[in-house]
Amino acid sequence: MEFFKWVSLIFTICMFISKPTSSNFVLGKESSSEIPVNFLNLAKKPELVDWMVGIRRKVHENPELGFEEFETSKLIRTELHKMDIPFTYPVAVTGVVGFIGTGKPPFVAIRADMDALPIQEGVEWEHKSKIPGKMHACGHDAHVAMLLGAAKMLQEHRNDIQGTVVLVFQPSEERGAGAKKMLETGVLENIDAIFGLHVSPNFPIGAVATRSGPILAGSGLFEAVINGKGGHAALPQHTVDPILAASNVIVSLQHLVSREADPLDSQVVTVSKFQGGGAFNVIPDSVTIGGTFRAFSKESFMQLEQRIKEVITGQATVQRCNATVNFNIKNSPPYPVTVNNKDLHEHFRNVATEMLGARNIIEMAPQMGSEDFAFFAEKIPGYFFSVGMQNETQGQLERGHSPYYIVNEDVLPYGAALHASLATKYLLEYQSKPTSPEGSLHDEL
Ligand SMILES: [Zn+2]
Ligand SMILES: [Zn+2]
Repeated sequence: MEFFKWVSLIFTICMFISKPTSSNFVLGKESSSEIPVNFLNLAKKPELVDWMVGIRRKVHENPELGFEEFETSKLIRTELHKMDIPFTYPVAVTGVVGFIGTGKPPFVAIRADMDALPIQEGVEWEHKSKIPGKMHACGHDAHVAMLLGAAKMLQEHRNDIQGTVVLVFQPSEERGAGAKKMLETGVLENIDAIFGLHVSPNFPIGAVATRSGPILAGSGLFEAVINGKGGHAALPQHTVDPILAASNVIVSLQHLVSREADPLDSQVVTVSKFQGGGAFNVIPDSVTIGGTFRAFSKESFMQLEQRIKEVITGQATVQRCNATVNFNIKNSPPYPVTVNNKDLHEHFRNVATEMLGARNIIEMAPQMGSEDFAFFAEKIPGYFFSVGMQNETQGQLERGHSPYYIVNEDVLPYGAALHASLATKYLLEYQSKPTSPEGSLHDEL
């Protein structure tokens, strides 16, 4: 904990040398219901919008894959430094954790992911990716700009903040479980709640979509090597054919969801990889198959994992082959189910309604996609939501992970204002709660 004492000291020094606030509203309990609209108005000011757009475009031009976000991380640290916001770095290779407020409990975190995808950008525009084969095709460039925008607004109001807002810039969301690695460093111990968002082309601009409880599935990968005995394709009796065995394995895997799972408990098993053989007249020695499986509860997930292994090895044996199954692909652990905390759902609804009006809060159906925000939400009461960016006049935007993915930059003020409002109002309301018996654990972050 010595490390955090040091952070605390830097934090205190920064508070004394920081510039005075320039915004004209107060984050007090009396005007609490006006905070979200005030933050949105502030976030929509042209100078702040232009600044966020500039950040987003800079990050977009220089996309970096998971755990390689060195320049992105540097840009974030430079901006935090300019704002006199103290931070910890490096956290899980490239991660940055900033602090705004009293430096004391309670602590509420707001999170942005920073990584890009191995995709060649197909959109021709002025700020197209300058790195061949890499692209921000999931909107994480926008997430970085929004969190920095929130930081700027919060820092202007740092003297009103009733506790500490923790800014979490995390590496490697798309693969490699950056959130899990950040948690393992211990930097996020004692956080009382964490909020995360994702821009979405599926909902209109000015709307948000979310739900209480499980919102995104838990997700795992598997790969199996099925070994037989290769030989002449015209003499199958002298071979043990792994292609036929793998084909039967794939058919049997389809029975897991259709015959063994509760039809009301959504699950997926997809075989998306099949590699084996290379000639018309040769039966190969082995075949490799792989894919993903998804479920909405830990029990269903573990059950699927166990049965995938049993079915692959058992079915391969029926065909006289043997099989090995690997669930730890590319050091990427399974992602847990993303579960939205019930109390934070109420908090979110209140804040979002005050900012956007009740008709712009959309109840989202659970989705089979996954998010490594789930690691945070597994350890800390967490809440994840979508921020709409669809503008009908601009036509349908592409979904994430497309080379033609476009961010509607009008979304930036909404994300920044939601981050800032959720955090400050959480801290205000936390003060009214009875003192936790574990309060002594919250002495420092
Ligand atoms: Zn993505
Ligand atoms: Zn994403």
